[in-house]
Amino acid sequence: MKHVFGPVSSKRLGQSLGVDLLPSKSCTWNCVYCQLGRTKAFETERREFYPKEEILSEILDAVASSKKIDWITFVGSGETTLYKGLDWLIAGVKKATDIPLAVITNGSLFCDPEVRRELLEADAVLPSLNAGSAELFERIDRPAPGFSFERHIDGMRSFRQEYTGKLWVEVMLIAGLNDSDAALQDMADVLKEIRPDMIHLVLPTRPAPESVVGLPDEVLVQRAVFILSAAAPVLQPAKGEMQLGSADDLLDTVTGIATRHPLQERELEAALGKLFDGDAAKIGEALEMLHASGRFEKVRQGGELYWIVRTVQLPD
Ligand code: SF4
Repeated sequence: MKHVFGPVSSKRLGQSLGVDLLPSKSCTWNCVYCQLGRTKAFETERREFYPKEEILSEILDAVASSKKIDWITFVGSGETTLYKGLDWLIAGVKKATDIPLAVITNGSLFCDPEVRRELLEADAVLPSLNAGSAELFERIDRPAPGFSFERHIDGMRSFRQEYTGKLWVEVMLIAGLNDSDAALQDMADVLKEIRPDMIHLVLPTRPAPESVVGLPDEVLVQRAVFILSAAAPVLQPAKGEMQLGSADDLLDTVTGIATRHPLQERELEAALGKLFDGDAAKIGEALEMLHASGRFEKVRQGGELYWIVRTVQLPD
């Protein structure tokens, strides 16, 4: 499938069927922690990157053939709301299934009333907030010209006023950048104005394009939870366990996931272990087949070995 991947398991969204609406990488920001690598050229104009009928048809096929899906999640190779026609897709999914639908976004286009309107029927929207000041916002998210911190916060506030679904704001906690008490307090103050239903604290556990991205230790994570919880309940970070649906289309399934999320080798091995009931010979054969496909490159970062798809931009 071209647009649909998973289901991928996560603490936040259970078994989540990912839907990628954009060519890689199409984004309004160039975050220091982006697992897709650096943004080579900003994309700021909304359009229907792929025919919406094609995307909907893939979603419905995946829903019909997957055993368990807790959420259908629009996410992927850039900023999701650059896709024009989200309302048509959301309506099409809702007409066909009761599975709730989430949209992961950086929220940078919420200042556009049309974007806010197109998202109204989503069950959950998960925008990003990584800084409580313009200076830190510029350092972490490195937005396209004109996409200022004030514009970002105004858009988030307006969206909250109009949207009645679950607003879960995602905060990426980066050691040495936004994990000081002052930075967290600034974020908590902004979050109080935005009034999310929940804050999802996430960590940069995957390869990042910039060396300034560090993983905070547990003490700092708990400090962040404490400070941010003044604004809304905080869901603490957790690693999801990846699950692979079947052995039939293993290569395409792993490629689909690794294109969007660099895979820890041990995460991949654990998922293969589950798929093959711990049969070491089959696990070894599968790893050999995936490796021999030539689609993947192995990258070591932070003591972990990751599999990434060769077309994904590598960190320096
Ligand atoms: S992390 Fe998300 S918002 Fe940031 S550059 Fe990457 S795709 Fe864009």
